[in-house]
Amino acid sequence: MSLLLENVKKSYREPNGSILPILNIERFELKESEQAVLIGESGSGKSTLLNVISGITSADSGKVTIAGTEIASMAEVVRDRFRAERIGFVFQTFNLLPAFSALENVLLGMSFSREKPNRNRAKELLAQVGLEHRLHHRPQQMSVGEQQRVAVARALANQPKLLLADEPTANVDISNQETILQLLRDACAQNQISMLLVTHSQEVAKQFDRVETLSDFNKIHAEI
Ligand code: ADP
Ligand code: MG
Repeated sequence: MSLLLENVKKSYREPNGSILPILNIERFELKESEQAVLIGESGSGKSTLLNVISGITSADSGKVTIAGTEIASMAEVVRDRFRAERIGFVFQTFNLLPAFSALENVLLGMSFSREKPNRNRAKELLAQVGLEHRLHHRPQQMSVGEQQRVAVARALANQPKLLLADEPTANVDISNQETILQLLRDACAQNQISMLLVTHSQEVAKQFDRVETLSDFNKIHAEI
């Protein structure tokens, strides 16, 4: 199995000191090479969940196991390396570095992992997303759809086991939405990467075989 969450709880502390519970997930599992979409309305904890899975944020308690390794108990520096080597992330706002070209942004996606950045592979990835003619463009010289395709190539650069996508098509137009989703799905299927995509959009969700609704298994509402 690729991802297993067990009894994962996460809350934030509000400015007045009170606790704001966000996640309480007894169990969630993603099998190897499986693709799932998780639906939840704005503010329901989708981004928090992806941050907990990737170890960007720590859960308050519980276990997060990725490709057989439990990450919640890792030291931060070990977890950062694990993330760099095993997890790909596509963000809603792309998070490309503005001063760098498409090719350099993809190379940066490789440079945090153990393997040496490989220029030819970076070019291949950009060709896969249809950007072989935009290698040296910087983000602001590209269309929004092109920028998100660079972000997809970058997320695949470290050959991840698990790809997390946080509303990856929320900022692109309808025709690019389908292209980006298909790119993600094909790349994951070809490389045996499991994918968890979160969205508030039913339109996006219906393109996936497995659709879960966060509030169905996030027990936070039951407690309030
Ligand atoms: P979603 O991605 O589903 O829109 P988020 O995971 O971003 O939801 O946020 C869930 C809830 O937690 C929101 O109500 C948000 O305001 C709150 N929240 C997010 N980050 C913090 C934080 N660092 N401190 C306090 N509250 C936060
Ligand atoms: Mg979010």
